[in-house]
Amino acid sequence: MEQPAAVAAPVPGTPLALVTGVAGFIGSHLAERLVTEGWQVRGVDAFTDAYDPARKRANLRWLQTRCEFELVEADLAADDLGPLVRGSDVVLHLAAEPGVPGSWGPAFAAYCRGNVLATQRLLEAAAAGGAPRVVYASSSSIYGDDAASPVAEDSLPRPASPYGVSKLAGELLVGAYARRGLLGVSLRFFSIYGPRQRPDMAIHRFIEAALAGRPLTLYGSGAQTRDFTFVDDAVAATAAAATADLEPGAVLNVAAGAPVSLSTVVDLLREQLGPSGLAVRRGPERPGDVAWTWGATDQARDRLGWTAATDLRSGLARQIAWHRGRARAGQAAPACARPVP
Ligand code: NAD
Repeated sequence: MEQPAAVAAPVPGTPLALVTGVAGFIGSHLAERLVTEGWQVRGVDAFTDAYDPARKRANLRWLQTRCEFELVEADLAADDLGPLVRGSDVVLHLAAEPGVPGSWGPAFAAYCRGNVLATQRLLEAAAAGGAPRVVYASSSSIYGDDAASPVAEDSLPRPASPYGVSKLAGELLVGAYARRGLLGVSLRFFSIYGPRQRPDMAIHRFIEAALAGRPLTLYGSGAQTRDFTFVDDAVAATAAAATADLEPGAVLNVAAGAPVSLSTVVDLLREQLGPSGLAVRRGPERPGDVAWTWGATDQARDRLGWTAATDLRSGLARQIAWHRGRARAGQAAPACARPVP
């Protein structure tokens, strides 16, 4: 077992959040919000090669100018997690091996390691006195294909992909540690989109193709429907779960509650990008891609005081602006001059 790099001591009087997967799409936005809200953030990432690690380093550009932020490069599935977790008021666990289509076949070993083993090791460190609360980023993929109406948290999980199975296993581990007294809760994210979205995800691929004048590839009929949720909204729900009055083992959907087909997304992008750049090439349906996702939102509203605030049209505009500005984002900001004591 490797020792992770030394971590800075918590600053007395400032709450400390450990954010795993901090360099990823959602984790980097979450850490930015927490720093802005007055948290000290210890961010952990292994910079895995699920996609280009340089993109992940770019996601941290603003955070690394902030003295309230500390980056620790560590692998949750292998390194000693005690020193990382110790002193945290909450662990927000977003690190994972992401993506449905790639989870079949021999690749599943990486999903077991990244989503099951890593989660168990983190929970063990938290339960050993490292942190009183763990918020786990789960997924709508645990539900499977039965969501032609809003799916509530107590529906029977029937994941349609090995990825969904691995995320459900993580949730069940949170439940097992919750029964031992850890305040572990799970948030089921529904199709998050927005600036920095992972490059394998549909909206990212569509916008990049359109801006490059290439045809975009739409897998399946286009009628498949997703409850797209803007990243700032998902992050607001996650930040709320860091302090909300929740019982150990609580599970909440984080969904906009407004499902839209992929063909409609293409039409909305066409509206904003102009028709010329949006030729569509059809690809075969991909195994594990479900027909519907649609989350019931009343639990998140009642328990977190949260509802999604961003409609799809304006969320897409913000993501398009990010793709357009990516080339300009290379200018480095000054690094934090004063390390957190
Ligand atoms: P992402 O791939 O952008 O971020 C995950 C980060 O975790 C990466 O930076 C990666 O390097 C890091 N990581 C992976 N394994 C690690 C390990 N063993 N140790 C340390 N770091 C490790 O993914 P994302 O889209 O930001 O997703 C974040 C979380 O939300 C994941 O748990 C994912 O399953 C969940 N989720 C995402 C969506 C979505 O639409 N993006 C939907 C449902 C659930």
